Amino acid sequence: MNIILLGPPGAGKGTQSAMLVEGRGMRQLSTGDMLRAAVKAETEVGLRAKAVMERGELVSDEIVSALIDAELAAMAPETGAIFDGYPRTEAQAVSLDQILASHGRTLAHVIELAVDEEALVDRITGRFTCARCGEGYHDRYKLPEKEGTCDKCGSHEFKRRPDDNEETVRTRMAEYRAKTAPILPYYEQRDLVRRVDGMAAIDEVSAAIEGILG
Ligand code: ADP
Ligand code: ADP
Ligand code: ZN
Repeated sequence: MNIILLGPPGAGKGTQSAMLVEGRGMRQLSTGDMLRAAVKAETEVGLRAKAVMERGELVSDEIVSALIDAELAAMAPETGAIFDGYPRTEAQAVSLDQILASHGRTLAHVIELAVDEEALVDRITGRFTCARCGEGYHDRYKLPEKEGTCDKCGSHEFKRRPDDNEETVRTRMAEYRAKTAPILPYYEQRDLVRRVDGMAAIDEVSAAIEGILG
């Protein structure tokens, strides 16, 4: 099964993807994570993407679609894909259809995480992750059970994203409104969109998604 998690920055895409990976053995394909890895490794793609990401603007469609194509090519056909943060433009949605077809895959659901914009700044500015395993946390909504220790791997080191500041978040939200939200009708036409209340607690959102996947 292949699904898209669609929602603005901070909607909970990464959090829910991690739960699906853990619970169902699906594979998370996050273009944001791939781009951050490229920036860190200072690859050609990383060098081109760095400043764009720091401003909160979108990286070119060609770059992200090529990343997704390469990941799918390396995946076992029976492993389901969770697209997290991709597609973000209509051109990417069209590319994804072609890429999926070329790998013999079809799209089962586009899960829209519906959230209030006001809550997003709060979610993003409180976000941090484990520096070793990448487990996601939040200053108020999801603290480690033991303060300063990752629940999953026991590491004491955490990190915050340079683009998780209020100013950049506003740009990212504007990009979402202008370029990403308009791709919903592309999937509505095909009756693929399932709307989930992303303002509910993390476990409730997860239960709603489980209900959709069946
Ligand atoms: P996205 O991948 O859509 O940008 P994340 O999954 O990283 O969003 O979530 C953003 C922040 O909000 C994280 O710190 C996460 O722990 C927290 N969070 C995620 N889902 C919820 C929720 N349903 N309620 C409260 N906080 C949440
Ligand atoms: P969030 O879910 O918190 O918005 P991501 O980790 O998905 O953040 O993305 C971080 C940044 O990486 C984006 O602001 C953008 O610059 C870039 N990016 C990630 N995915 C894409 C994509 N599909 N198309 C264009 N740019 C992307
Ligand atoms: Zn960890």
